[in-house]
Amino acid sequence: MGDDESKILVFNPNPDYLDKVLAKANSQNAKLGPFAATILMGDVLPSDKPLPQTELLESTYFAKGLNGINSEVEAKASESSSTLVDVAENLTYVKPPYSIIKLVSGITMLIVSGELSKDSLDKIVQTKAKIDLLFTFRWPTVLSFIESVSEAGNETIDSLVKLIKPKYHFAVGKNEGGVYREVEPFKWPSGEITRFISLAQEGSADKWFYAFSISDKQDEVASFMENPFLRKKRSIENKGSENKAATKKAKVVTPDQCFFCLSNPKTETHMIVSIGSQAYLTVAKGPLTRSNKDLSFSGHGIIIPIQHVANVNDRDGAIRQEINKFQQTLVKAFAKQKPFLKLIFFELNRHNNVHHNVQFLPVYEPELDKFSQSLEYRRDTNNEKFKRNQKLEFVEFTNEDDSKLEAIEKENDYIKFTISISEEESKIYIAKLTKGEPVDIQFPSSTTKIQRNGRS
Ligand SMILES: [Zn+2]
Repeated sequence: MGDDESKILVFNPNPDYLDKVLAKANSQNAKLGPFAATILMGDVLPSDKPLPQTELLESTYFAKGLNGINSEVEAKASESSSTLVDVAENLTYVKPPYSIIKLVSGITMLIVSGELSKDSLDKIVQTKAKIDLLFTFRWPTVLSFIESVSEAGNETIDSLVKLIKPKYHFAVGKNEGGVYREVEPFKWPSGEITRFISLAQEGSADKWFYAFSISDKQDEVASFMENPFLRKKRSIENKGSENKAATKKAKVVTPDQCFFCLSNPKTETHMIVSIGSQAYLTVAKGPLTRSNKDLSFSGHGIIIPIQHVANVNDRDGAIRQEINKFQQTLVKAFAKQKPFLKLIFFELNRHNNVHHNVQFLPVYEPELDKFSQSLEYRRDTNNEKFKRNQKLEFVEFTNEDDSKLEAIEKENDYIKFTISISEEESKIYIAKLTKGEPVDIQFPSSTTKIQRNGRS
């Protein structure tokens, strides 16, 4: 290989067996190297782990993860004025928030240490350095939504990637060791090509290390994915002719066959939590169900009218009144007992539903911010990729009593999300549906799946 090329080795070690990985780095260096740099990703030396004993043959870098940092490393770092702190021969710690490292070949690396803040992003902007290799803990959110690992995403990383358009972006994503993904390369209008690789942790069944060589020349790529950072803003399409194929006669489901009707002998009554005079509350079984370590159940629940009704549009009617009462009681109960969890209610209210229902899912408060991004992403995907579905346009309200919101609910089929921030404060997103046009009935539930399994 030529002088202008650098070999790079990237690992996501298990901090319990760090020495084993460093020995492996040494043997790789002896066999395939020398590597210009070895980068250790993730939580390499969290606060409860000792320094490694292995002597390294070549330059190796690591950063702070999301589970603290070894106290000896921290002490050395606090005495150092440099962003790079030598912990041992050839083992260098990147002090938070980041360091930009230029290799002999001219290749430049940006290693982010810890969680990237908006302030650090602004400082990186000012350096105007051309970055070839980017290393972060978290993923950009756009990729996290595409790959359905939304808990891995952090919005500041999106801005960073858009800004520096690196040739390679390495990440780990999840607190519990990392997740392996390699997406197809994508291209920027100015010609740069970015590859994104997230590594699982050593010891998992997935790929946990990556070795490659990089030059400062433009490389050739056979196939690209559409650049996810440049998704077009939705174009307003004039529909009309699209409607024809859409209308299919729905099969009629009678109460004795209806999954939500209490008169159906097959209804699983043991899941019911509370029965009122107009509606009942039940714990959901199904795809949204997941273990939640902070609750005795999955947390996914459904409020269902007792009557076999397709839709509930009358706000003043007894059914909606009782549904609302259930919602308020739930919000109160969570605020009191699990204040770190917030509820998202969602419903698809359609004249041709089988049996109306309002679902809810508790979400950890710090994850709530991701909801609007998730909604935007699902809406764009629905509107651009799935041409058969009707286009969705959401309107936002902050007050349930808004007369415009009331008017939409009264006259239309709709998809509605209500995010309860507190007992007094909520955010409402509603999209009118055109009767007779197909709609993705999974849209509300898939949009609401935004969180990780436990508190971080
Ligand atoms: Zn029913």
